[in-house]
Amino acid sequence: MPLLATPAIVLSTLRYGETSKIVRLATRDHGVQSAIAKGASRPKSRFGAALQVLCLGQAQLILSERRELHTLTAFDVVHLPLSLTTDLDRYCTALALAEVTARVGPTAAHAELFDLLRESLNLLQTAPAEALESLSLRLLWRLVEELGYQPALDHCVRCGAEIAAEGPLLFAPEEGGALCSGCAPATGPARLGVEDRAALTALVSAGSDLPELDGRHAAAHRRLLSRFVRWHVASGHVLPGLEFWSERSWGTSIMASRPSLRRSRGSGWTAWRRSGGVGSPSSSISRRFRSPAESKRESSTSPGTRTLCRIWWPGPRDSIWSFWLWLPTKD
Ligand SMILES: [Zn+2]
Repeated sequence: MPLLATPAIVLSTLRYGETSKIVRLATRDHGVQSAIAKGASRPKSRFGAALQVLCLGQAQLILSERRELHTLTAFDVVHLPLSLTTDLDRYCTALALAEVTARVGPTAAHAELFDLLRESLNLLQTAPAEALESLSLRLLWRLVEELGYQPALDHCVRCGAEIAAEGPLLFAPEEGGALCSGCAPATGPARLGVEDRAALTALVSAGSDLPELDGRHAAAHRRLLSRFVRWHVASGHVLPGLEFWSERSWGTSIMASRPSLRRSRGSGWTAWRRSGGVGSPSSSISRRFRSPAESKRESSTSPGTRTLCRIWWPGPRDSIWSFWLWLPTKD
C-alpha cells in the first residue's frame, strides 16, 4: 500500500473506539479523504494535539486501495488558526466552509479547492470586523463555485432563456439559479429586488468589490445561500454548521460586546461537569480537567433555554485552546 505525504487541512474529527480518531481531511494532492488516526486519543499519542478542526499540516497517509478509510500515520502542524476561535462570527464561518468541503468535496485531486480553503481561512483571520458579513458570504459562494455549483444568474435554469440584465430577479435556490417569468411557479422562488440582485451578483463574482450589507439583508443572503447549498449542493441534507452560520444573530460576539462576561467563570462549571455535560465533547473535556481552576468558562444566557458558552483549556507549550457550544439552561 502506498505511503504518501500531502498538505492537508483537518475538516472534522470523530472519536473511534477508546483510543483512535477518524479524521476527514482536505488534502492538496488527493482530494477529500477520511483516515483513521490510531491511538490519537491516547494521552501520549504521537499526534499530540495536532488533529484539531481547521488545523493545517503535512499529513502522511497509507492509502487503502480497497476501502474508503485510509490510515493517517503522522500529521505535522504547519498552522493552527487559533485567532479564529476568539471570534464566533469568524469561527462559525470557518466551520461552515470545512463542513461543506467535507460533505461535497471530491475524492480526486483538486489542488484549487485546497488552496481556496486555505486562503479563505487566512482571510477570515485577518479581515476587519466590518467586512466580515459580506466576506463570509463571498467565501462560501466561492467554495460552492469551486465545487462546481456556480449559481446561474443570467439565464433560466429550466428553459435556458436569457434573463434581462436589469430589474428584479426570481431565484430558486433548490434549482440552482434564476428562473424566467414563464417558468417560475407562483410560490417558491425568492424575489430579489434590484439591490439584492446586485449584491448577489457581486458576492458570486470573486473579482468585484464586496457589497455593503446591513444586518437584515446580510441575514437574507445567508438564508438564501444556506438553502442553495442544502437543496442544490448537498442533496437535501442538513448541514448543522451551515445552518448555525445562517441562522444565528451576527455581530454579537461575546468577547466583543460583553466584556464583563470575561470575568464570569467557575460557578457553573462544576455543576456542568458533575452533570456529565452535553454530548461527547464535554465528557472528553471533563476527563481532561482535574479542577475548575484549570479551565475558564464564559457564558451569555439567550432568550430561550440555552446558554452559549465558551470553554477554554490549556494546550501544549503554553497555548490556550477554546471552542463554543450551546448548553441547556436548567432554571
Ligand atoms: Zn425559463
